[in-house]
Order: sequence, then structure tokens, then C-alpha cells
Amino acid sequence: MIPSTKDILARLVAEPTVSRSSNLALLDYAESLLGPAGARVERFAHPDGSRANLWATIGPDGPGGVVLSGHTDVVPVEGQAWSSDPYVLTERDGRLYGRGTADMKGFVAAALRAALLAAGRNLQRPLHLALSYDEEIGCLGVRGMIDALAVRPDRPALCIVGEPTGMRIATGHKGKVALRACCHGQEGHSALAPNALNALHLGAAFIAALQKRQEALCDHGARDPDYDIPYSTIHAGMMRGGTALNIVPNLCEIDFEIRNIAEDDADDILAGIEADAETIARPYRNRFPMACIEISRVSGYPGLATDPHAPAVVLLRRILGGDPSTLKVAFGTEGGLFDRDLGISTAICGPGFMDQGHKPDEFVSLDQLDRCDAMLERLLAELASAN
Ligand SMILES: [Zn+2]
Repeated sequence: MIPSTKDILARLVAEPTVSRSSNLALLDYAESLLGPAGARVERFAHPDGSRANLWATIGPDGPGGVVLSGHTDVVPVEGQAWSSDPYVLTERDGRLYGRGTADMKGFVAAALRAALLAAGRNLQRPLHLALSYDEEIGCLGVRGMIDALAVRPDRPALCIVGEPTGMRIATGHKGKVALRACCHGQEGHSALAPNALNALHLGAAFIAALQKRQEALCDHGARDPDYDIPYSTIHAGMMRGGTALNIVPNLCEIDFEIRNIAEDDADDILAGIEADAETIARPYRNRFPMACIEISRVSGYPGLATDPHAPAVVLLRRILGGDPSTLKVAFGTEGGLFDRDLGISTAICGPGFMDQGHKPDEFVSLDQLDRCDAMLERLLAELASAN
């Protein structure tokens, strides 16, 4: 007897798989379903063994077929006022509440159910499940699985990333690079401040330069009208420096990010920022040889810009049976990695809405889950047909 998507979702929600914590119990549960159904299951673990990706294949070996991609980690619930236990799936008024229901265990549950159904369908092309960890902290976990798949001779043809789009087809999102700037000055007594080099002052000049670059992108940068913010953005999110008012600080750290549309190359934007950093620090270097602003990359993921006529979109239009229009989403996904690093035609479509993600009383509606189940049923029919 194949469990319902709702029953599977209840088990997934019960595992508090916050990023960086173990998801192994969740994967054990997934394997307890997939193994007896005849799926070939592999894990690609984090180096410390505490969490892992799961890759499962149903149907024939070989190239082609479709990947259903989802992350198993969720964001924390601390400090959020929930009406019910976030780790107990709770049904109220046609909605299923719980952490991760929308983002994105609802899709993972539907994908697991589809895999169980696929076992009885004599698939002509394979169905793959790609369940990752640590997506919410910069698409970090999935890379181990992508690297392993990249060296295999056979590639899947298409990938559906089930992040919540309200079951509409999303073809793109911006890329993101998270960066840190370390501004190095020289410490001194504040009474003799001009004899030292204030790292916070370097940092302030650097942030002003970031702001100027942002204004230039806004005023005459490339445009993609499909986004709410139709241009690439630069943003400083954290600034740290100083130990006491009477000490001229020697270090200031700034965490900032670039989110680029497909028309802009994040590395080009970064090259401009690096030139600004050098322009700011260079005049001080005669008196203060240590003066510099070092920029390092913390994390990032590529954007996704799938053509509206690409195979993944064509497939989704066929199996969705509803609104054929496409949209782009404001949040990032693992889709850019499947597309860029594996060359797999990729689009995003999943149940629920990101408006509910990351918030207290996150939910997915039963209607959205039903629509996802119906889409995956039609996908199985496609994979079972000869062409
Ligand atoms: Zn997500």
C-alpha cells in the first residue's frame, strides 16, 4: 500500500532537519520507502558524515529521464510564534502547517510517492530523485552530488526543481555571490588618531563605493523586466569593527553580496568592486604599508536562465495541464547548478508559495499538493511511454 503524499509529508516534517544538522533519519525513512520499491539508492555525504544527499533511480539505467530535485533542510523556528508545533504536521482548513511544508518538503513528499508509483509502471526512461542538504545556507550540500554525477557517462535529460512556485513554471532566478571585505588599517590611541589608519573609515569608503556601483546598475545597468527588481543588485548586510572608542581600529569586516541577472556577469561586477577597493586603499600605503581591502568569496550559486522553449519547460507545460505561462522567482535554487555544471535542461515548479516559507505557520494547501501529485502522475505516464 503506497502512502499518501500527506502521510509522507507528516514523517518528513517530524524530522527537524535544520541546515547544518543531521538529515540522516529523514534519509533513512526515504530509503525505507525507496529500497523495497526497487529504487537504486546512493548517498553522497558531508565530509563529517552528519548529513548527506540521496540519489535514487527507478526504471532503466542509461541516459535521459527526469530528475526531481528537492532539498531536505529547513530554516530554524527560533524566535517565531507558531500556532502549533512546527514539527508536527497539522491540518486546518485545507492547509497543512509545519516547518518545511512549502519550502520544500511538500514537493519531496510528492516526489517520494511518485517514485513508489513508478516502481509498478515499467518505465522506459529513468526517474531520478535528488535530495540534498544545506541548501538554505548557499546551496552548499548538493555540490558533492553534482560533482559525482558530473563524471558519469550517462546524464539525465531534464530536471524539475520543486521549490514552491504555486505549481507555475519558473524559468529563472538571479545568481548570487556572498563576499567578505577585510579592511586593514593600523591601530593607535584615539587621541593621536591621525597617526593611525582607521579601518572603519576604510570600510565606510568601501560601502560608499558599493552604493555607487549599485546606483549605476539601477540607473543604466542591464534589465530583465521579469524580475520585481529588474537589474543586478549589490547589498552590504553586516559591518564589524572596533573594540573601544579610544582605540583607532585596525580591522573592519564587511559582508556583502551581488545578485546578478543573466545579462550581467557577477565576476565582472566583482572586478569593478575590487578596483574600487584598491583605489580606496592605495593612497594610504606610503604611510601605512598594511593598508588594503581584501575581498574573499564566502559562497554563491549560479543564476538560472532557461529558455521558455527549452525541453524542461516544454515537458512541464505538457504535464502541468494548467497555466502555460512562465515566470522568474526572486529566491535562489539548486537549479542553476544542475543547468550549468551538468548541462541538464532545468525548470522550477512545485507546490505552495514562498510567501509562506521561512515564516511562522508555514503551510502548503492540500489543493497544491493534489496538483503536484497529478503533475507527477502525468510525468510517470510520459516516462512509461516509448518516446
Ligand atoms: Zn527552498
